[in-house]
Amino acid sequence: MNEWIPVYQATNSLEAHTLKGSLEVSGVTVQLQGEALSGALGELPANAVEVTLLVRAQDLEQARKILESYRRGAGPAWYCRHCGEHNAGSFETCWQCGHESDMTEL
Ligand SMILES: [Zn+2]
Repeated sequence: MNEWIPVYQATNSLEAHTLKGSLEVSGVTVQLQGEALSGALGELPANAVEVTLLVRAQDLEQARKILESYRRGAGPAWYCRHCGEHNAGSFETCWQCGHESDMTEL
């Protein structure tokens, strides 16, 4: 029951890490497959290397929802600057306090 399921194919390492971050703040554990061997996060390779995002079966449904909102162009998840609440990228206002998103990048 520790199976990893591919949910998304990123076109490059930067996109993969952006999505991985969005998923992980929502509690989804992500594994990247196919990434270039350069380990340092500070040196993301500029060349396009396709990276597959893998999640575990129990996180699959949630991961798909998050990725779906990403595909719709909703952008990454964000934190409310007013109350600090975490919001999915598809929300334009904070679900907690109604403060408008200024789309602060993580
Ligand atoms: Zn708020």
